[in-house]
Amino acid sequence: MELRAVRGMKDILPPESWDWQWLETCFREIAERYGFGEARTPLLEATQLFVREIGEGTDVVEKEMYSFERHSDHLTVRPEGTAGAARAYVQNSVSGREPVTRWYYIGPMFRAERPAKGRYRQFHQAGCEIYGDEGPVCDAEIIALCADVIEAVGVDGYSIHINSLGSGDTRERYRDALVKHFLPLKDQLSEESQRRVETNPLRILDSKSKADQALAEDAPSVLDILDDADRAHFDGLRRHLDALGIDYIVDHKLVRGLDYYTRTLFELKTTSDALGAQSTLVGGGRYDKMVESLGHKKPVPAIGFAMGLERILSLVQSPAEVPKPACYFAPMMPEAQGLALQLAHRLRKAGHYCEVDGRGLSVRAMMRRANGFDSRLCVLIGEDELAKETVTVKDLARREQESLTLGDDFVGRIEAMLARPRSEDGAETDG
Ligand code: ATP
Ligand code: MG
Repeated sequence: MELRAVRGMKDILPPESWDWQWLETCFREIAERYGFGEARTPLLEATQLFVREIGEGTDVVEKEMYSFERHSDHLTVRPEGTAGAARAYVQNSVSGREPVTRWYYIGPMFRAERPAKGRYRQFHQAGCEIYGDEGPVCDAEIIALCADVIEAVGVDGYSIHINSLGSGDTRERYRDALVKHFLPLKDQLSEESQRRVETNPLRILDSKSKADQALAEDAPSVLDILDDADRAHFDGLRRHLDALGIDYIVDHKLVRGLDYYTRTLFELKTTSDALGAQSTLVGGGRYDKMVESLGHKKPVPAIGFAMGLERILSLVQSPAEVPKPACYFAPMMPEAQGLALQLAHRLRKAGHYCEVDGRGLSVRAMMRRANGFDSRLCVLIGEDELAKETVTVKDLARREQESLTLGDDFVGRIEAMLARPRSEDGAETDG
């Protein structure tokens, strides 16, 4: 039987992995400008963590988790990063060390969803979490950070959608209002939404079914029933976004797929239709109750987001370039291979990328590969060179060659060659 990667899971190999590193570096640099430090938490967590925090009535918990039992532990491969980060925050008593904590993460997530364009079973998210700041200054900062990343990588056309789900009994009152709206329409709802009318009616607003979406069209707006504190928080966020000159759309039907959100909720979507229904690039919001629900002695407000890296990469042109060797070593006989290795080693120690051809092929075959790599220099070592204790260095860009001795100045002489323009008249160098 031919063994293949699991459905919905992809290999990321060179040269594509250069694009990934570029995107991740853009994200890290911007997150660090906002004061975030990297948190690396395990890929496996107790199943109960996700059941409790993401919520039993959600798609993720109902049908998408990779869960298993081992040595009587019930474990799940993480479907998202927020619950594990909050678990780590509580377990490590981080609130005792600092009043406000800013973490970012980058890594794979796992959900047994139906694969589609922009939807995989192993996918990658980069995300941020802030603990200990009730906002709305940090809500605005988090949204600004997302926009900075999306713009820095060159996504062409996106929109920001915001909503507030309120907190405390606003949530309950809104739930009741939705039950009242959907119950008389129950027969017309999709099967899934019928099940959720009384248990989790918020989820109906997020349904992908066209019929559900039509019935949700004139559902009551959560923004009409926010209490004073929730309203002040939401207005504060809007004011700060206005101050930053960030455009946004208020969308009272925005709910998102996880149950833990309170107050602010937001999404960044691409305005191109390249990703079809998978147009959401970033999803985030507040989860002020999570830390306490994990057993923390006092409540700690929190907010975070996750961006889907596959979706972003599918929309942008990465400027990442595959590195080219400075020096390609072509030993022309077995006796020359040791010297080639030694010289390459010296150059690598000095910071230069070198390739050594150990295949024992003809000069022609080795030169072909040096040119294929677009190496600047090719170092030939044959019988003559060994006898004279020299090497022949071909500058493949300038089509010149030199004979170099192997003394202490070898690295310096190679660097001098690399520093020359690629052609007599051009100014471009590789050095
Ligand atoms: P969607 O409705 O787009 O599936 P979601 O509500 O499940 O999103 P979150 O769990 O908040 O999304 O994840 C945040 C982001 O991670 C999404 O906006 C998306 O960019 C990305 N993402 C989520 N699920 C997948 C997946 N299965 N494959 C690829 N990217 C994903
Ligand atoms: Mg989803």
